[in-house]
Amino acid sequence: MCIFCKIVNKEIPSNIIAENDDFLAFHDINPKAPVHILAIPKLHVDSFHEVSPEMMAGLTSFMQDIAKETGIDHTGYRIISNIGENGGQEVKHLHFHVLGGAKLKWGHFSDSDPKNMI
Ligand code: 5GP
Ligand code: ZN
Repeated sequence: MCIFCKIVNKEIPSNIIAENDDFLAFHDINPKAPVHILAIPKLHVDSFHEVSPEMMAGLTSFMQDIAKETGIDHTGYRIISNIGENGGQEVKHLHFHVLGGAKLKWGHFSDSDPKNMI
């Protein structure tokens, strides 16, 4: 069982901020911003690449509610999902990083010359 499935099952403690039948949101253990929440489906899905549009619809509303509840909806925020090796995904259970609470820098790109990319 993956680490986020264990968090869903409460086998591993986490700082939960929102939960419903289908989704869970908890504070990232290593925050990169004043607000850094992870939003996940309770059902294991490997990554964004495998998620159904129906599940995404639910996750969309869930994340909008998280932004409202944490007050970052007024000041702006960022949602990131890392996918696979090049995307930098470390936990292979779909999760969205919801980041805010400060002006965020934009620095998620590789050092490779963009001209050499497709
Ligand atoms: P990824 O790199 O896969 O997009 O992000 C995984 C995130 O999960 C990282 O930001 C990391 O800090 C967080 N994380 C990993 N293990 C745990 C854990 O046991 N508890 C919590 N709350 N966050 C975790
Ligand atoms: Zn899982």
